[in-house]
Amino acid sequence: MADGSDSPKEACGVFGVRDQHQPVAHLTYLGLYALQHRGQESAGIAVSDGTKVTVDKDMGLVSTIFSSHRLQALPGTMAIGHVRYATTGASAWNNAQPISRYAGGVYFALGHNGNLVNTRELTAHTGEGEAGSDSDVVAALLAQHMTHHNSDLADATLHVLPRLHGAYSFVIMDEARLIGARDPHGFRPLFLGSLDTGGWVLASETPALDVVGARTVREIDPGEMVIIDDDGVRSVQFATGQPRALCSFEFVYIARPDGHLAGIGVHAARRRMGIALAQQAPADADMVMPIPDSSIPGAQGYAQAAGIAYGDGLIKNRYIGRTFIAPSQQLRDSAVRLKFNAIGDNVTGKRLVVVEDSIVRATTLRATMRLLRDAGAAEIHLRVLSPPYRWPCYYGLDTHDRHTLVAATMTVDEIRDHLGADSLAYLDIDTMLTAITTDQSGFCTACLTGDYPTPIPGASEARIGTGTR
Ligand code: SF4
Repeated sequence: MADGSDSPKEACGVFGVRDQHQPVAHLTYLGLYALQHRGQESAGIAVSDGTKVTVDKDMGLVSTIFSSHRLQALPGTMAIGHVRYATTGASAWNNAQPISRYAGGVYFALGHNGNLVNTRELTAHTGEGEAGSDSDVVAALLAQHMTHHNSDLADATLHVLPRLHGAYSFVIMDEARLIGARDPHGFRPLFLGSLDTGGWVLASETPALDVVGARTVREIDPGEMVIIDDDGVRSVQFATGQPRALCSFEFVYIARPDGHLAGIGVHAARRRMGIALAQQAPADADMVMPIPDSSIPGAQGYAQAAGIAYGDGLIKNRYIGRTFIAPSQQLRDSAVRLKFNAIGDNVTGKRLVVVEDSIVRATTLRATMRLLRDAGAAEIHLRVLSPPYRWPCYYGLDTHDRHTLVAATMTVDEIRDHLGADSLAYLDIDTMLTAITTDQSGFCTACLTGDYPTPIPGASEARIGTGTR
């Protein structure tokens, strides 16, 4: 994906750690740093020293928010952390996570990856009026249950989870225990890891476990809650029998390539998608190049299968944060040139296969195609590692508005012309899933097929089908 303002902003990343042998704020910082790609708008850490929970959160990147000095002010041996992109609720400090509450004589904090689809219905039960986000509603329901039933956080969580519909991977903690939970469909990933010191770690992706020196123990199962306290890890299966619906877009774009999901290496899956794409949509060309960075393994696979030289046609500026919204076309073009620059020597006079992982809104990709033309590309054959993104995601990506999705309103030929490519081909859905794994069941493909795994209250576009592949 051209990784600009037209890309979906990834949902969120969560991290949790409990280790009685060391202060854990620095570990949480490292874990969040490894998950930064999942959300760049805000970040936060909550720590417990056994008697109180302290939360520090702010707008911005993990590295800009948390100085060493600021981390030292977060003493404690248990923590949760969160990186966020606003998919529900405004982009504002008070929607940054972890969210914290005081209820029933206990402080607790919560971090959420995913989107609930029944937030409005749940809000009516909180008695708090309009909530800031779906995650706020969950915190309110937990607080309500703890207060009214005099229950602890684990009991309250077990009571509230079955009322939530949609996508969630949670990390939740009070002064004494760390809880992880994953929705019954398993839309978003969540892993359990162990430290040599005897501590336990929860993280959205395995690279965040690697970076803190934790061994990946296993994925938290869909419908499972784990409670980590002085007695170790206890597992409770709070829901069973729901079809699995791991987000297939995690493999296409969201997850880091150096991680594993459902036992499948993400880098290898992307490479297999490229191989399959070369077989499905060959092109006469001199060079195969990726739109960096997420399309690199796919382009390598395409080049290998097609027997065409792999090369770099674009350099990405690695120090760029979020693309600012430029007020004029000229400035928007400059913003793209700041992010990408063509390597003229590599593309001039060449017939290029340009591999992209997905096309969502297409504005940055269109400008990137112009860059390659201006640099002298003779032909551009655009190849996409996933099917057309035609349907909104209600499970944690910010693609709620169908009218902004280029494939929802244009045919493939129209998109080709809109982008200024000589040819355009997408990987079909069955081939994409086969490239990910031999077992095609258990994936959400709703944004690619319109087949939603859950009812979406109030969403007229949503065709509700079996929802899983
Ligand atoms: S709709 Fe698409 S992006 Fe959203 S969870 Fe399903 S596969 Fe992932």
